[in-house]
Amino acid sequence: MKIICIGRNYAEHAKELKNDLPDEPLYFLKPDTALLKEKDFYYPNFTKDLHYECEIVVKIDKIGKNIEEKFAHKYYSEITLGIDFTARDIQEKCKLKGLPWEKAKGFDNSAPISSKWIKLNEIDFNKTAFEFFQNGIPKQKGFTHDMIFSINQIIAHVSKYITLKTGDLIYTGTPAGVGPVEIGDVLTAELNGTPMFHFEVK
Ligand code: MG
Repeated sequence: MKIICIGRNYAEHAKELKNDLPDEPLYFLKPDTALLKEKDFYYPNFTKDLHYECEIVVKIDKIGKNIEEKFAHKYYSEITLGIDFTARDIQEKCKLKGLPWEKAKGFDNSAPISSKWIKLNEIDFNKTAFEFFQNGIPKQKGFTHDMIFSINQIIAHVSKYITLKTGDLIYTGTPAGVGPVEIGDVLTAELNGTPMFHFEVK
């Protein structure tokens, strides 16, 4: 499986990092070794500025290529929450030099994910909210209606270039409020008020 991540999908987050708004979904990949399923996270020794980015994650249900936007909803049925961990210091260097972001984004365990999945036919996705907490303090609040590109638009765009396969994950971008984590932090998140994950930084 592969992990596809969308960048700059919430206007307020793009602004806080002083980025222009994209005119098409901006995506990058993380390898399967990035996935961390509700185990402790160990702060990597190659960064001094590791940031959380809490995101809605979509699981692809069937193989597809060149999927039209109007059919994209047939390719997924469940969502959850995850973190797109980012070594911000490394990413800033990559951005300055115009280099790819994988070193800052694709390292081992950089994609923590909840083990709980929410069926889309059981919620009103367009009225869905999610919230991220660092040591119990609310840090990020996202609303699906603020996404610049919808899940269907993301799937239509990405599948022009990459075949989507069963089990692939799409991290759909983070709202404003990103910030650094420290050893000892407890990171939790809720989707429509339901607790979704609990990670400790060691
Ligand atoms: Mg992100």
